[in-house]
Amino acid sequence: MSYFSHLYCPRCSKTYEKEKPVNLCECGGPLLVQYDLEAAGDFKKENLQGRPYNMWRYRELLPVIHPENIISLGEGFTPIIPFKRLGEEMGLQNLFCKDEGLNPTGSFKARGASAGISRVLELGIKEIAMPTAGNAGGAWAAYGARAGIKTHIAMPEDAPEITKTECAVAGAEVFLVRGNIADAGKLIGEAAQRRGWFEVSTLKEPYRIEGKKTMGMEILEQFNWDPPDYIFYPTGGGVGIIGIWKAIREMEQIGWITGKKNPKMIAVQAEGCAPIVQAYEEGKNYAEPWENPQTLAAGIRVPKALGDFLVLQAVRESGGTALAVSDGEIKLAMEKTARSEGMFICPEGAANVAALEKLLQQNVIQPGERVLLLNTGAGMKYSGVFAYDFPVLDKSDSI
Ligand SMILES: *Cc1c(COP(=O)(O)O)cnc(C)c1O
Ligand SMILES: [Zn+2]
Repeated sequence: MSYFSHLYCPRCSKTYEKEKPVNLCECGGPLLVQYDLEAAGDFKKENLQGRPYNMWRYRELLPVIHPENIISLGEGFTPIIPFKRLGEEMGLQNLFCKDEGLNPTGSFKARGASAGISRVLELGIKEIAMPTAGNAGGAWAAYGARAGIKTHIAMPEDAPEITKTECAVAGAEVFLVRGNIADAGKLIGEAAQRRGWFEVSTLKEPYRIEGKKTMGMEILEQFNWDPPDYIFYPTGGGVGIIGIWKAIREMEQIGWITGKKNPKMIAVQAEGCAPIVQAYEEGKNYAEPWENPQTLAAGIRVPKALGDFLVLQAVRESGGTALAVSDGEIKLAMEKTARSEGMFICPEGAANVAALEKLLQQNVIQPGERVLLLNTGAGMKYSGVFAYDFPVLDKSDSI
């Protein structure tokens, strides 16, 4: 059973009941799920024993009321891989990477889609619409197909090719937009209003974040309830980082961790699109929309996030920081990681590696501290990033 109590607005505190579909709060703020955390004290770590290793092992703290509505492709419980060689190169003794690229549809967006689509089904919604930088579309199209829900998706024309194919092959209606995700969001949002589609854009519905939250629960369980010192997260819409921090706070409130040694959350962005970093540096609570966002890390090319204030809150509350890296550094970090660890990480995940190098140079992080990088997706989805020259031989040539 789920301890889902109600929805609330973190901006104005207004509450909403869980039985009706709802997008934003009246005040324009995003809504979050509140659990009855006192009652959830009955949910013990021991209850996890024997459960399948996927994100639904934490179902008591997920928002689906009737388990038969759960739409799952086995998402979650991705491995945490020690990065021994890369750590040594950087002078770190305890470097780890959680590989979200192993999820269905090749990114952590599967978690948000699994939770989100399950609730769409539970609430009786038939058609949904969303903008995407690529991976979210691929995930929601797949989980939507599995639930029998029609999806309408708008994405930038230059989104990774495979993500367009993923949406189309799953039967989604796909629109390519000459612009960025915010432009796509405006177009599809207007269409949703006119056509009666339910909007599931980032943080415009409250359940995607609950799926992403499970990354935080898994990190705690996989580190045996002794969290790492730092968690690096490539931040676009910010749902991943907000979700991980929400998990940590909830685990603390039900007594699964002490909360005395919480990880510092590091929000990583690209130099060509760094609204959160800018707001962090200027001591602001909200970010300004970023003009002309550019980066090859498509998933973090988000000029303005609805949850910017929640990302900034998580970073500051945890004692973390926010920083940006260049596309050149991202590409180098992709090769470096593949060459030292054998893992083809996505550009967004590689931004973490580059950011870690910077913080080590600045002596912010000490050699003995435990650092966890989130690789949010599979590098294989971004075939366009590299163009290597290979020798091409005739059969009669010799090597
Ligand atoms: C969407 C995405 C991100 C950004 O995640 P948010 O939760 O929106 O901040 C990072 N990496 C990849 C691969 C993504 O698809
Ligand atoms: Zn509100």
